[in-house]
Amino acid sequence: MKQNEYGPIPGSAIFSGISGKKAIIMAANVRIALVAQGIFKAAKDTDSALFMEIARSESDLKGGYTGMTPAAFAEKMQEAAKAVQFDSWALHADHITIKKGDSSEIEQTKQLIDAQIAAGYTSFAIDASHLFNFEGKTVKEELAENIRVTSDLAHYIKNKMNGQDFGLEVEVGEIGRKGGEGLILTKPEEAVGFIKALNESDVYPHVLAIANGSTHGHTYDANGNVIEQLSIDIPRTKKIAQALRENNLKVGIAQHGITGTPRDLINLHFPKGDIIKGNVGTFWQDVVFSTLKVYEPALYKDIQEWTLEKYRSANPGKKDRQIFDGNCKFAIKEFYKEIYSVEKDTEHAIQAMAYAESLIFFKAFSSQGTASLVRKNS
Ligand SMILES: [Zn+2]
Repeated sequence: MKQNEYGPIPGSAIFSGISGKKAIIMAANVRIALVAQGIFKAAKDTDSALFMEIARSESDLKGGYTGMTPAAFAEKMQEAAKAVQFDSWALHADHITIKKGDSSEIEQTKQLIDAQIAAGYTSFAIDASHLFNFEGKTVKEELAENIRVTSDLAHYIKNKMNGQDFGLEVEVGEIGRKGGEGLILTKPEEAVGFIKALNESDVYPHVLAIANGSTHGHTYDANGNVIEQLSIDIPRTKKIAQALRENNLKVGIAQHGITGTPRDLINLHFPKGDIIKGNVGTFWQDVVFSTLKVYEPALYKDIQEWTLEKYRSANPGKKDRQIFDGNCKFAIKEFYKEIYSVEKDTEHAIQAMAYAESLIFFKAFSSQGTASLVRKNS
């Protein structure tokens, strides 16, 4: 038996395995690892391929705001996959974000990538979308820095992976960025120009993240209440996918910021197959906190008080609920020990809830059967 029987497979194997299928593969940002077993179990029971991912802000060499280094995250995901014996998943570095693009930031980024590769990551998302030049007169001018940094880091990863296959995601538009007239959306010619330029420098991403109307985390109405809504611009998303196809560019779309999008609408209206990767992050954190609220009221109260005390003054006029939702992620590191030593029945409830919610996501994403497809192709 292979030692790593339930270890992560290359992200590229998942993307090529589902090629042509109208399915979205869930990518779960697991900020609190207690949900992982439930997600893996649902993936196994529905035969759904899966990404387990974590962004640079969530997990870096110092632990990010989740308190997990890349090695700690990898270990927790491996353990959870092994516990339920699930084999069709990739370990993905979400948002390897570069904000300035200067040499010291690039150097630090390469150190993070080294640690991710050493920890066994099999898929990477380079996010240099912040380097968008709004003064640029042509697509090439707008994207020049993004193209330079993305291709530098993609080549770096390829070298370091030393012949091993891996998944590659890149970002053309900053998710959730607002301009004078609301959210700034990616144009089809930007997506096409970006991928063409990367291909010309011998970089062939499997998925492209675009700005198409989603934001990370929850959306609120004027009264500070959470609203469910389909903010994602589906016609624009389809146009971008079509433009990529017409230019013979083999790249799917990664949908970020799915938390808060009603799953019945995803099920019926998302262009599955155009969108091939669906990132779900904040949702899983909510699963943990809503369970703690009932199962561990004292701990929940401590977390709530710590968060409100720390972030209230910086958020004048916002309701406590919104301040807590937006900032409770920063309590994960602060209460790391307490969260990871909750009672067995608490952990069980979190897993059960993560399991049930995953079933709904996999159904809405039409990902049933993709794990077998991936196995057959690898
Ligand atoms: Zn994202």
